[in-house]
Amino acid sequence: MATEDVSHDLSSLLSSEERDFLIRNNGDQVPVSALVGKNILLYFSAQWCPPCRAFLPKLIEAYHTIKAKGSAFEVIFISSDRDQSTFDEFYSEMPWLALPFGDGRKQILDKKFKIQGIPTAVAIGPSGRTITKEARMHLTAYGADAFPFTEEHLKQLEEEIEKKAKGWPEKVKHELHSEHELIRTKRSSYSCDGCGETGYSWSFYCKECDFDLHPKCALKEDGDTGTEKGKEGFICDGDVCRKA
Ligand SMILES: [Zn+2]
Ligand SMILES: [Zn+2]
Repeated sequence: MATEDVSHDLSSLLSSEERDFLIRNNGDQVPVSALVGKNILLYFSAQWCPPCRAFLPKLIEAYHTIKAKGSAFEVIFISSDRDQSTFDEFYSEMPWLALPFGDGRKQILDKKFKIQGIPTAVAIGPSGRTITKEARMHLTAYGADAFPFTEEHLKQLEEEIEKKAKGWPEKVKHELHSEHELIRTKRSSYSCDGCGETGYSWSFYCKECDFDLHPKCALKEDGDTGTEKGKEGFICDGDVCRKA
């Protein structure tokens, strides 16, 4: 296995005896061999699945951002849609490649990666090695910054956030929750009451009301370089910092 050719890995993963290509939503065929050496994200998803539809715009945004940086990256839609027409409809929204609908390779991939639910995003590195099956979570937490999803990279991101968090006020008053102060709190995951999206780790939190705000939603990070106004657009008064 260790001596096996890299291209063989990816083509044995994504091709079958009858098919050595993937498709675009305009009907074009792209040879699997064109993907060798790239970072690949296998995106297991379906239109009937509400969380899949909710995640799609975020993935599209991250995809364009990652590609714009010139990264060798491609997403492949692995569909669990019920029929060709819902596949076509859902896939028409996606700017990346797909396994043709109904292709037998899907079951093999489901099994190989032990797919328990969708959406799931499996990241595969340039050498064909599986990097993570949790790419969806990392994309939700960090957006395009999560790329290329390696443990080292994510650890570095985490360290940067911890460093940044030290500069955040311990409490804030926010207009969306004027009743109580929001306390800088490390949480596992939460739904932000500001923007409605999922958040991980740090939150500005009111325990009494179970009210969460992403740090970016609670703090106005507009790069204010003002001198006497306190940190990044805040006025600190006693132990409370308010938006300036
Ligand atoms: Zn938010
Ligand atoms: Zn409260």
